[in-house]
Amino acid sequence: FFDSLTEQKPDPLLELIAKFAADPRSGKIDLGVGVYRDETGRTPVMRAVKAAERHLWETQESKSYIGPEGDPAFLRALALETFGEHHGGRLLAGIQTPGGTGALRLAAELLALDKRRKIWIGTPTWVNHQAIFAAVGLQVGTYRFFDIGKQAVLDDEMLATLQNATPGDAVLLQTSCHNPTGAGLSPQNWLDIADIIAARGLLPLFDNAYQGLGHGRIEDAAGMMTVIETVGEAMVAVSCSKSFSLYRERTGAVYLFGDQHAQLNKGIGNLASHARASYSMPPAHGAAIVAAILQEPSRRHAWVDELSEMRNRIAEIRRAVAEAFAQFRPELANIASQEGMFSLLPISPENVGQLQAEHGIYMPDSGRINVAGMRVEDVASVAQRIGPYLA
Ligand code: PMP
Repeated sequence: FFDSLTEQKPDPLLELIAKFAADPRSGKIDLGVGVYRDETGRTPVMRAVKAAERHLWETQESKSYIGPEGDPAFLRALALETFGEHHGGRLLAGIQTPGGTGALRLAAELLALDKRRKIWIGTPTWVNHQAIFAAVGLQVGTYRFFDIGKQAVLDDEMLATLQNATPGDAVLLQTSCHNPTGAGLSPQNWLDIADIIAARGLLPLFDNAYQGLGHGRIEDAAGMMTVIETVGEAMVAVSCSKSFSLYRERTGAVYLFGDQHAQLNKGIGNLASHARASYSMPPAHGAAIVAAILQEPSRRHAWVDELSEMRNRIAEIRRAVAEAFAQFRPELANIASQEGMFSLLPISPENVGQLQAEHGIYMPDSGRINVAGMRVEDVASVAQRIGPYLA
C-alpha cells in the first residue's frame, strides 16, 4: 500500500530552517522564519503566559476530556477581546480549534458542504491557504492582491473580481498584518469590500492570525468589524499563536456571525461534528492559558503591555528596513507603513539562492522576509547585502 503513494515534497520553509541550522557561518541571518523574534533573536514565552501557567498548575484539578466545542470561558473571553463588546451588532457563536490552521480547516469543511461553492483568495497569500481549501474539495478562485514592484495593494482588481463572484461564494480576507505582503487595506477599501460582499451575497471568511501586531488590537480589527456590521453573516478563524506567542500549544477558534441563534447553533453543531470525526476535541492547555490571561486584570494588563512591546519593535525595524532598502528601490519605503512581521521583496528565486550561498541570508524563494528576524542594528548591513540582488 505505501508503495502506491505519491511522494510529497517537504515543506520549503521547514527545509529552509534545517539548511539555516546546518550553516556554520557566524554572520548568517534567518529572514524566513514565521515567528516573532525579539532583539536577542529569541521567541520567548510571554510573561503573562508564564503567570497563567503558574496559576493553572496550582489550580487545575483535572485533565479529563473537554467537549468538541472546547472551553466556553476561553471562547467568551477571546470573543470579547477580538470583536469588542458590541461585536458588530451581530450575534456570534464560537468553537475552539487546534490553532488558526485548524480553524481555517474547520471553516473550510463547512463551506465545502456545497461543492459548487468557490472561495476567492488573494494572490499572493499564505502558502497554506490554497492547500487547506483544496483539501476539502472547494473550488478556489484567485484575485491579484498586491503588486510587488510597486509595493501597493491592487484594490481595483480585487474589487472588480469580487464584483463578478457568484452569490454564495466565499471570500477569504486576512484581518490585518497580511502574510506575506504586510500590506494593509484603507478604511475606504474595507467599506467598498463590505458593500460588494453584501450586494453580491458573498460570505466573508476572515483569517485573523496577527491581531495586535499591526497598529493595535482594536485598530487591527476595524476593517473586519466594518464588514461584519455591513454584511451580517461571516466566519472568523482566530489564531492565538502569534498574539499570545503560543505557537506550539495549537490554540485558536472559529466564530460564526449572524442574526439568529438557531442558525448559529446549527453552524456550530456542524463544525463540532467535523471536529469529532477528525480530532474529537481541541487541545486544552493553550486555551486555558488564554482564558486565565484575559479573565484576570493584572495578567491581561501584562499581556497587553508585552504585545505592545512586540508591535513597537516591529514598527521600529520596519522604519529602519524601509530607509535602508529605499536606497535601492524607492518603492520599498512603503515597508515602513506596512504592518506585521512580513514584507515581500522584489527578488528572483535565483537571487534568493545566490544570497543564501554568498551571504548566508535565508528567505523563501518568494522573497518574503520576516522583519522581526533582524536586530535593528543589523538592518543597514543586511540591506547592503540584499540590495544588489533586488529585481
Ligand atoms: N493564517 C496566517 C495568515 C498565518 O500566517 C498563519 C501562521 N503562519 C496561520 C493562519 C495559522 O497559524 P496557526 O495554525 O499556527 O495558529
